[in-house]
Amino acid sequence: MKTPDKPESAAASKPRIAVSACLLGQPVRYDGKDKNCTDLQSLAEHCELVPVCPEVGMGLPVPRPPIEVWHSPRGLGLRQVDQPEIELSQTMRQWFERHKSRWQALDGCVLKSRSPSCGVGSTPVFTASGQEAETADGLFVALLRECFPQLVLLDENAVQIDSKRQAFLHQVKARHQARMQADAEGPVARSKKA
Ligand code: SF4
Repeated sequence: MKTPDKPESAAASKPRIAVSACLLGQPVRYDGKDKNCTDLQSLAEHCELVPVCPEVGMGLPVPRPPIEVWHSPRGLGLRQVDQPEIELSQTMRQWFERHKSRWQALDGCVLKSRSPSCGVGSTPVFTASGQEAETADGLFVALLRECFPQLVLLDENAVQIDSKRQAFLHQVKARHQARMQADAEGPVARSKKA
């Protein structure tokens, strides 16, 4: 397993998958615990797994007060549950922008369900007054989708289902091949396949 900041070698032979760090057993959740997912071991045989915790990455401590996604006047927002005036979406967006080359070098992601940062369509989104309005992507995933629409995303629950895990592997291998080919062809081809 490599560290998230290690630059990719052009000769890398396995698809590179970012995984919510808590699913890889890192105790980075708001409560100081992990959510180790043993089903990821079968992916590790075929892929390079890169742990990423957006909340720790953007500078939040462990443990930390819970945060939530909300419909802010400027789009999807991220705020502290017990002190909603503490708005964190700009901090997340700036961290995401600073590390864009890391996300560009990914073939797929496996992400923690229902997290305000990592959820894939499963995250509760609240109104300004705190009512649950819908479920959607966490903010990190929303930013990934916006910038890298071809990135293959898998929810932690789907990784436990053989057919979905196999389909994911198939897709990330195809994406990896396309990305390696684009790298070999140069910057113009690479930008088309991001
Ligand atoms: S931000 Fe993502 S990786 Fe970090 S603890 Fe929450 S779900 Fe896990």
